[in-house]
This record gives sequence, structure tokens and C-alpha cells, in this order.
Amino acid sequence: MEYVDQVLAAVKEKNAYEPEFLQTVTEVLNSLRPVMARHPEFQKAKLLERLVEPERIISFRVPWVDDQGEYHINRGFRVQFNSAIGPYKGGLRFHPSVNQSILKFLGFEQIFKNSLTGLPIGGGKGGCDFDPKGKSDNEVMRFCQSFMTELYRHIGPDCDVPAGDIGVGGREIGYLYGQYKRITGQYAGVLTGKGLTYGGSLARTEATGYGLCYYTDEMLRDNGKSFEGKTVVISGSGNVAIYANQKATQLGAKVVAMSDSNGYIYDPNGIDYKVIQEIKEVKRARIKTYLDYVPTAQYVEGCRKIWTIPCDIALPCATQNELDVEGAQALISNGCFAVAEGANMPTTLEATELFQSKGVLFGPAKAANAGGVATSALEMSQNSARMSWTFEEVDQKLHDIMVNIYHNSAKAAAEYGMEGDLVAGANIAGFLKVANAMMAQGLV
Ligand code: NDP
Repeated sequence: MEYVDQVLAAVKEKNAYEPEFLQTVTEVLNSLRPVMARHPEFQKAKLLERLVEPERIISFRVPWVDDQGEYHINRGFRVQFNSAIGPYKGGLRFHPSVNQSILKFLGFEQIFKNSLTGLPIGGGKGGCDFDPKGKSDNEVMRFCQSFMTELYRHIGPDCDVPAGDIGVGGREIGYLYGQYKRITGQYAGVLTGKGLTYGGSLARTEATGYGLCYYTDEMLRDNGKSFEGKTVVISGSGNVAIYANQKATQLGAKVVAMSDSNGYIYDPNGIDYKVIQEIKEVKRARIKTYLDYVPTAQYVEGCRKIWTIPCDIALPCATQNELDVEGAQALISNGCFAVAEGANMPTTLEATELFQSKGVLFGPAKAANAGGVATSALEMSQNSARMSWTFEEVDQKLHDIMVNIYHNSAKAAAEYGMEGDLVAGANIAGFLKVANAMMAQGLV
């Protein structure tokens, strides 16, 4: 059996109950076949077997009290996946669906994404099956304080630096940081996505959405196209989706549909990101509320049909496996020619293959949404240097990083005989740096 097949079979046997983790490992390892053929030393060093095993997983109890005095117990995690090229770095997700499989998938993806940014950050991810939706600020604060009361002993500015993800925005990062500081007495850059008054970086809030559009813009330009005058559908209405809308609009496109987990809105005149920002970040309401602002728009219950809205460019920015073959077929038959992933693994393996086989330009998450973590790394640099850069400085660095990621991925794909395959290119380019660092550091 070929080396990659051997490893895949072993991973499937050992992690049989972790479907999301198996999905990402299958995608990444399959695209590394030509690399393994060219580098027998990786097989000898059992590099893939080491790569698929997290360095450490911490699982812990998170007890907290709600406003009525009732006790609740949640399960928290931190997956410290790979530290070959830098301290573990990756977000925290608070969502009822969170489990070890989802966090291992996200942590594994994070290794290659972080490597692609060109910055010295390893891969990690964490979170909890807590649902912040419908909770009061005080409940969220008490939960965050309890979560950090365990997590603090496992993180540090040179060891592991978490950030936000689904359900973890500025409010949650603030509560987590306050508790870290209280327990340790250290004013350290141990979390990113912090508020601007206490060590946050300008442009971090916008970074993932902006970065997604910078990457997509470069992919379009490289193929003789642009955002100008194009129709865009964006799923989700959270941090990534809101700022992807803003940047796509600035680049000349019109965003006609957005969603949340309940349903989607369609506004053929274009959705103003500021309205979504107010609904989601200020009011913490459902996307249906958009009709109060724009009564001529349409609201459809259920979010999965958003891909039936005709568009030129689709940017899935909600969650994993939200875009399946049915959605992909609808997009293709309506003439969509580019898809770039703002969320992590939003497209199923089959849907990705369909897009690629039909010649749709396809930008994978670990490249296209790397702008968030890249800017988090810039926040770490600013914290270490005790200085802060202007919005324009950070935005320019972000732009350059995203353009480089696109070209490095395209180049890696071409070097290994898969020209135009940006999925394989991102996996290969991200992998090679980590692999070389692991080889240099011996059997660890
Ligand atoms: P937010 O919590 O700000 O927003 C998430 C959005 O996705 C909401 O609109 C939410 O709807 C929707 N959503 C979440 N879960 C589901 C689900 N199961 N089905 C349908 N819709 C869902 O998160 P972010 O914007 O930060 O993250 C979105 C995606 O981007 C995630 O995949 C995340 O891993 C990825 N990402 C985020 C980065 C960041 O910097 N924030 C960086 C890189 C990747 P509802 O409110 O109804 O739950």
C-alpha cells in the first residue's frame, strides 16, 4: 500500500468517531501524495503519522451559574496540535455543536493556514459546547471567567495564544482576558482580538473578511476577472461575513444575500453591511430583523437554500459543510464562476470536487480565510514590542500577506503538477514549511 493510504487507513481506524477530523485529514493527505513521492525522507521519519496526532489535547469541566441561580456544566477543550514553527495559535469556538472532532479538524487546518501566512505561529484550536445565544452579558461573563480559570494554566504569550471564532467575539475576549490577568497578574499578549483600549490591533475585527476579499480579488485578477459589477452571495452574518460584505462592496461588487442559522435574506439592491453590523453586533438579533430596515427585501426560513440565489461569486462564511453538492450544483447552473471559503471547511469534499471539475475558481479556507490569524500574529508582534500600528499599516500588511498566500499556493500547485488546483497548492505550501521544521527538530 502507498504511504499516504497506509496513514489514512490508520487514522480512520483510530478516529472512527471523528467525521470532521477525518474529512480534513483525507483532503490534506490526498493532496500531499506527490510531495511524499518526491521526499522519501518524510516517510522514513514517519512525518505524516506524527502530523495527524495532536501534541496535546486538554479537556476540562466548565461550571457556571445562570441568572436564576441554576448550575450548568459545559465541556471545554484546547487542542494544541503542532508547535513546529511557533506557539500554538487558533481561535476558541463557543457553540453547542463543539466536540473533539470539530476542534481537531479546526486545529489540523490551522497548522497549514498559519504556516501559509509566513508568520511564526503553530496550530491550535479550542472551545466549548456553551451557547452564548440568548444568554445575558452577566451569564456570558461568568461562563468566560470559569472557562479561563482552567485554561490559563495551559496558555501563554510564547506558548499558546487563543483568539475568537464562532460565538467568541470582542465581548467574550474581553471577559476572558480580564480573568487571565486577574489570576496571573500578567498583562501579557495571551489572547488576540482584544479591544483597542487594552492591546488589540486595529483592523483585527475586519481582518478575516477583508483578507478573504483580498485573496479572492487576487485569484480573480490572475484569471482576468474582478469584483467590479459582480453579484455576490455571502452565507453567515457574523464577524467574517460582515466585513467580507464591506470589502466586496468597496471592490465594486453587490452583496445580495446573507444568512444566519435560521434563514437568509435576499435584497437585489445590495445589503448594506452597516445594517447587518447593527443587527448582529449591537442588537444581537436574528437576520430576519433586516426586513424592519428594508421592507422590500425577502426573508426565507432555513439557511441552506441560500445557494439557489443567482450570483457570480459565492463566499461561504458561516460554518463547516454548509455548502454541499446540491448547493454547488445550484450555484454552477446559475453561472457562479468563483467560490472562496471564509468559513473553515464550509464546502463538502464532493462539492469541492464538483466546483473544480467544472472549472469554477475555488479558494480553500486555509488560504482564503488566513487573514484573521495573520492579523492576530501582527497583534502579537505589536504586544511584544509594546507599540501599535495604524489601521492603514495593518491593512497593508494584511493585503500583502493574502496576495502572497495566493501566489505561493498557485506556485506550489504548479511545481507538483497540479496547476490551477489551489486546494492542493495551499496544502502543499503550508505543509512543506512545517515538515522541514519538524525534520530539523528530530523525533518530537
Ligand atoms: P460568528 O459567530 O461571528 O458568526 C457565525 C455565523 O455563522 C452566524 O451568522 C451564525 O448564525 C452562522 N452559523 C454558525 N453555525 C451555524 C450552523 N451550524 N448553521 C448555519 N449557520 C451557522 O463567527 P465567525 O464569523 O467568526 O466565524 C464564521 C466562520 O469563519 C467559522 O467557520 C470560523 O471558524 C471561520 N473563521 C473565523 C475567523 C475569525 O477571525 N473570526 C478566522 C478564520 C475562520 P447564528 O447566529 O444563527 O448562529
